[in-house]
Amino acid sequence: MTAVILDGNRIAAEIRGEVAAEVKAMTSAGVIPGLAVILVGHNPASEVYVRGKVKACGEVGIHSEKHTPPESISTEKLLQLVADLNRRDDIDGILVQLPLPSHIDAKRVLQEVDPGKDVDGFHPMNVGLLSMQRPGLVPCTPAGIMEILKRGQIPIAGQEAVVVGRSDIVGKPTAMLLINANATVTVCHSKTRDLPGVCRRADILVAAIGRAGMITRNYVKPGATVIDVGMNQVTDPAEFERLFGGNTKRRETFRAKGSTLVGDVHPEVAEVAGAITPVPGGVGPLTIAMLMANTVRAARLRRGAVKMSRHQ
Ligand code: NAP
Repeated sequence: MTAVILDGNRIAAEIRGEVAAEVKAMTSAGVIPGLAVILVGHNPASEVYVRGKVKACGEVGIHSEKHTPPESISTEKLLQLVADLNRRDDIDGILVQLPLPSHIDAKRVLQEVDPGKDVDGFHPMNVGLLSMQRPGLVPCTPAGIMEILKRGQIPIAGQEAVVVGRSDIVGKPTAMLLINANATVTVCHSKTRDLPGVCRRADILVAAIGRAGMITRNYVKPGATVIDVGMNQVTDPAEFERLFGGNTKRRETFRAKGSTLVGDVHPEVAEVAGAITPVPGGVGPLTIAMLMANTVRAARLRRGAVKMSRHQ
């Protein structure tokens, strides 16, 4: 069996199109949704992510602005910046790009963000609302995973779902969304006994681990849907061979670039799974699309005009 590819680029483009239409309607009614991104210092990876987010805003018509305090900013000063953005009526979403420098109290900063503008969905208030199935803002990557499942016509209610990873950003909120969608959910982590055996129970297997190609075919029930959240840069040639041994085209690119982006799922899994997200081009594109959707949702929530849309 060769798995159906769940095309994240296509689904993300669809969502961005819907968001753009919604922004257009809001703009005609006099409301331009606005997103403020705070990028502290000069982390090269964070700079790339923020550039992508600002560009995406432009494409769907969301107003965006970038605040770039220096690496040396104090926690107090950063809290002040967040408080200023909380007060502004033209800003609907506030995103603090992580990681923050180690001298900053990141928890305090994230908690300062007005929960109604917390488009990352990391504030304890939004975590609580999600667990109680009440309207709030849901973290972007988990929300994107649900969109892939729904738009990929993958049944969720009554299915066995296994989530490997229990981070606050991906694993836990994904598990909560799956529970809310009536799956029977098991959450695994580094202390789980017989991980392959537990994973083999899954109709839907979500890998959010951060280990290149760890989920091999013996973790997967034939026909299962596999969602690969991992984004790992592989630079070691031996590791490359373990993952992509027979793939000569990819080997050429790897040799030229010196690295390749790999998920947490081994490519061989495509031979047993029923459906699978590729890396790149799977979950990744959904994260920014859902940030756009969350910004619009925040704009509506704040004005008391929330539509319980499928982006919930
Ligand atoms: P994280 O905070 O490091 O969490 C990793 C989780 O995996 C932890 O719960 C950990 O267990 C578990 N784990 C680690 N090794 C394991 C093992 N050998 N067996 C079983 N469980 C194990 O990572 P994260 O932020 O959730 O991110 C996970 C992956 O997703 C990373 O590759 C990240 O780059 C990627 N990611 C992608 C996107 C996207 O847009 N596509 C967004 C966010 C993250 P313990 O809790 O026991 O330590």
